Amino acid sequence: RFESITMAPPDPILGVSEAFRADTNEMKLNLGVGAYRTEDLQPYVLNVVKKAEKLMLERGENKEYLPIEGLASFNKVTAELLLGADNPLILQQRVATVQGLSGTGSLRLAAALIERYFPGAKVLISSPSWGNHKNIFNDARVPWSEYRYYDPSTVGLDFDGMIADIKAAPEGSFVLLHGCAHNPTGIDPTPEQWEIIADVIQEKNHIPFFDVAYQGFASGSLDVDASSVRLFAARGLELLVAQSYSKNLGLYAERIGAINIVCSSADAATRVKSQIKRLARPMYSNPPVHGARIVANVVGDPELFNEWKEEMEVMAGRIKSVRQKLYDSLRAKDKSGKDWSFILRQIGMFSFTGLNKAQSDNMTNKWHVYMTKDGRISLAGLSSAKCEYLADAIFDSYHN
Ligand code: PMP
Repeated sequence: RFESITMAPPDPILGVSEAFRADTNEMKLNLGVGAYRTEDLQPYVLNVVKKAEKLMLERGENKEYLPIEGLASFNKVTAELLLGADNPLILQQRVATVQGLSGTGSLRLAAALIERYFPGAKVLISSPSWGNHKNIFNDARVPWSEYRYYDPSTVGLDFDGMIADIKAAPEGSFVLLHGCAHNPTGIDPTPEQWEIIADVIQEKNHIPFFDVAYQGFASGSLDVDASSVRLFAARGLELLVAQSYSKNLGLYAERIGAINIVCSSADAATRVKSQIKRLARPMYSNPPVHGARIVANVVGDPELFNEWKEEMEVMAGRIKSVRQKLYDSLRAKDKSGKDWSFILRQIGMFSFTGLNKAQSDNMTNKWHVYMTKDGRISLAGLSSAKCEYLADAIFDSYHN
C-alpha cells in the first residue's frame, strides 16, 4: 500500500535549486545546477535554436511518432559531429546510433544493454563523478566500482591512481570516461595521458564508455572537445558514447542526445542497434521529435552550424572570463599564500573548489551561495558582477 512508502531524499543537484528558490536574500546565487546563464544571470535560448524553430514552423512539420531509434537525420549528424564526418567508422557503417532522452536517457540505454548482454560486467566510475552515474547503474542493476581520479592535495588528477585502478579491474570491464570537462572536477587528462589510458584499456580488454555532455562547450571547439573519443576510435576499439545537447545547444528541457555504439563490423552494428531498440520500446516507446529536429537543422545547415559555433565560443568565453575574474579576486584577497591557480587549470562550466561539506554549508547558510556539497560550483551561473562577492564567500569559508 502507498501508506508504507517513505520520503525520498532530495536530489543532491536538483534539490539545490529548490532550496535556492525558497531563499529570499537578494544576494543569493545559484551555482548548483550546471545551466548556462547570461551576464544578467538569465537563462539563454541560442539564436540558432530560435532560427531552427522558425524554419520548422514554416515547413509545417507534423507530430507523427518517430521510429524507436529516433529521427534519422538527427542520428546521422550526431554521429558525424562526434567522430568527424569523414571518419572511416561512419563510412563503414560500424556505428549504431540511437536517439536517446538526452545524456541521461542515453546512458540509461547503454546501462540496459550492459545489464542484458554483459551480465556481471562491472562499470568503473571515476571518483568523484557526476552524481547521477551511480543512480543510473544502480537502477539498471549493473555493478560498478570507482577508480581514483581526483587528488585533493593538488586539486588535480590522480593519474597514477587512475591507471592502477583501471589495470586492477576485472578484464572486460566498462570504463566510464568523461569525454571533456570532467564533472564535477573540471580536470581532464592531457592528450598524452589519454594515450596511456587507452593503452591500459586495450591491454585489459576493457570497453571504453564515454559520456560526452559538453562537446564544444568546454574549449569552444567541437573538434578539440571530441579529441579524446576520436583518439580511442582511431585505435579501432569498440566503444560506447553517450551524447547530450543540453549544454552546447542549451536544449536542457528538450531531452535530446544519443547513444553511439562503435562496433567491429557493420553487421554487428545492425544487430546491436536492433537490441537497443528492443530495450527502448518497453521503456518509453520512441523519443520526442522537437529537439532532434532542432539539432538536425542546426548541424545540417552550414550557415546555422557556423553561427552555432560562434555562439558556443561566446558561452565558453564568458565562463572562462568569470573563471579568471574569480581567480584574480581570490588572489587579491588571500594573503595566506594559498595557491588558487587550480581554478584556472580546470575547464568547462564547473570549478571544484576543494571546499569540504562544512565549508560548502557555510557558503550557503552564511553567504546564500547555493552549490553541491562536494564543493563544486557552476561558473555558468556566475556573472562578472558577482565574482567579488563569491570570492569573499569562498575566502571566508576556507579560512574560518
Ligand atoms: N553526464 C554528465 C557528466 C553531465 O554533467 C550531465 C548533465 N549535468 C549529463 C550527463 C546529462 O545531462 P542531460 O541528461 O541533461 O543530457
